[in-house]
Amino acid sequence: FPEEKIRNFSIIAHVDHGKSTLADRILQICGHEVDRKQTLDTLDVERERGITVKSVVASVKHTVGGEDFLLNLIDTPGHVDFSWEVQRSLTACEGVLLVVDASQGVQAQTMANFYVAFELGLAVIPVLNKVDLPHADVDKTMMELNQMFDIEFEECLSISAKSGKGVTEVLDQIVRNIPPPKPIDVSGGALWCFDASVGGHSGRINYVKNIGRVPILPGDRFFPCNDKSDLMSIKDVGRCFPDLQADPEGLLPGQIGYFSTLKAKSRVTGKVLVTDEKSGAKLTEDKSLPFNQLKNSTPSVYASFFPHTDNKGRIKEFEKSVDSLILNDPAVTSTRTSSPAFGSGLRLGFLGQLHLEVFSQRLRDDFETDVIVTSPSTSFRVDADDPSVFEFEVAEEFVPKNFVKEYQEMYSLLTVISPVEYSPVILKAVEERRGSYLSSEEIGDGRLIFKYEIPHSETIRNFHGVLKGATSGFGSFELEELDWRPAELVVLSISINSKIVPELQMITHKHSAEALGRKLTKEFADLLPMQDHKAAICAHITAEPDRQRGFWGSAFGTKSPNFKREDTTRSKANKKIDLQRRQKKIKAEKERLEKLRQIGNVKVPKDAITSLFSLI
Ligand code: GDP
Ligand code: MG
Repeated sequence: FPEEKIRNFSIIAHVDHGKSTLADRILQICGHEVDRKQTLDTLDVERERGITVKSVVASVKHTVGGEDFLLNLIDTPGHVDFSWEVQRSLTACEGVLLVVDASQGVQAQTMANFYVAFELGLAVIPVLNKVDLPHADVDKTMMELNQMFDIEFEECLSISAKSGKGVTEVLDQIVRNIPPPKPIDVSGGALWCFDASVGGHSGRINYVKNIGRVPILPGDRFFPCNDKSDLMSIKDVGRCFPDLQADPEGLLPGQIGYFSTLKAKSRVTGKVLVTDEKSGAKLTEDKSLPFNQLKNSTPSVYASFFPHTDNKGRIKEFEKSVDSLILNDPAVTSTRTSSPAFGSGLRLGFLGQLHLEVFSQRLRDDFETDVIVTSPSTSFRVDADDPSVFEFEVAEEFVPKNFVKEYQEMYSLLTVISPVEYSPVILKAVEERRGSYLSSEEIGDGRLIFKYEIPHSETIRNFHGVLKGATSGFGSFELEELDWRPAELVVLSISINSKIVPELQMITHKHSAEALGRKLTKEFADLLPMQDHKAAICAHITAEPDRQRGFWGSAFGTKSPNFKREDTTRSKANKKIDLQRRQKKIKAEKERLEKLRQIGNVKVPKDAITSLFSLI
């Protein structure tokens, strides 16, 4: 296929508006076998949750007016936490299908995704989906698109991705309205690598677009622009249908496909690869190129991960699992950490709470690694005189107040699209989390776009769930970083008989600390097993760490776990237990005790701490 016969496009939409269904239907119309389950959502977590978390490439052939065209489709995730994934995919395309569920109208991520495509200067084909539903309202949805994005009524296509109605028309429009790829004028080979995954024989598969003027062939040697040390030799190269199909003739200019390498270590996702040093320098300089406009991803939510066994060798295996997943999800950052209770582990950074959840689940699904995940946290900033401004996210890094000009926390802009009647409950949820109302704008038929500002740290624990619940599922929302603002931060510690539990120490805002501390002491006391002695569990808030005793402060919320008043196990009835059963019981108790940690004379099972994580 010559360039003018190629169309590279992506499907963007709010979650559940039908991207994956449309992608499957397109594959089917173009002659691919499609089984009853969705072909493109292949990960277990995608099938279970019904959401796409990874972009997938598929090439199909479509005939218009007797001429054959090659359509390369990238299915993208819709959720805001994966917007970096979406952006990377879009930089490989010349156009997008903007899918909107006509029974739901424009939603928060429709807006966010539209703006990403718009800023990259891509052709947009508006597609109203689910017109088969009785409550689909095509006219209203067209009005919204017109009002919000200046899209003309005549441009909109109405389809049912489920039944296939109108989908052929969509394919014709892609050929007509999306421009063919334009190769960049450089010497040598040039590739844009927008994604990667683990390949056979521990090599890797790179998903790429040929952005140069020459075909990419097996044996070609590429390196990332400005990093000649990371030289990669191409093993196979070809297209995705979506199964990989190697082609000895290589990947032609303008084409989207893959190449495999034996080297797994290279970090080339989100980079331009070249065969010629000169063209590399030229490419990075040109700020008008789409991939140079791609924003860097910065994690906003952190959690520590520990392999759930006491086996020492386990951490190596665990790190390997995490590394291969990060290859496929390069927005995740990783550093080593350790904990008195859980041993060695990794501290990982994510783009949002859902991103964290999906990653944990993929880790469990793909590698059968049972993992302990600590409760999510975020980073704060301190403005000290020396060294001026830096970020921190764990209590050990907390700088005492008298060395600090000011603590700061990130604020986010929260955009909610919702029917007007939910505005009081949304406001309540926002204000409970120290947020406040900014503005609202009507988009017709009783729906509004609300804007709020809210501290980022208040949105990392099940905020999605809270808003979904408050709006009975009718609200959709989106968070964006705003700016750093002064914050009164304190360290909240939980102690058992005056010994601090390091895993439960955290940085919080002064106003949230007390309620959280009281809740934690109560829940923790309830989670502990029967103890031999009396004990006290307390919460402490401190802005000033005591160097002698660690982080300290006056105790509150004191609770006692249950303890044995008398030994009831020696009653007569129990003496009759036969030997075998007794041995079994003793063995089980011994194993349980091995898993316990002694903190301040109190037995603390690991799972009490992990259960507590799910509450904070
Ligand atoms: P995605 O999150 O955008 O990828 O959405 P999916 O393709 O997974 O679709 C979400 C849900 O909408 C699924 O249950 C689909 O079966 C359903 N769906 C998709 N297209 C249509 C359609 O045209 N009509 C109807 N009635 N349902 C649809
Ligand atoms: Mg999907």
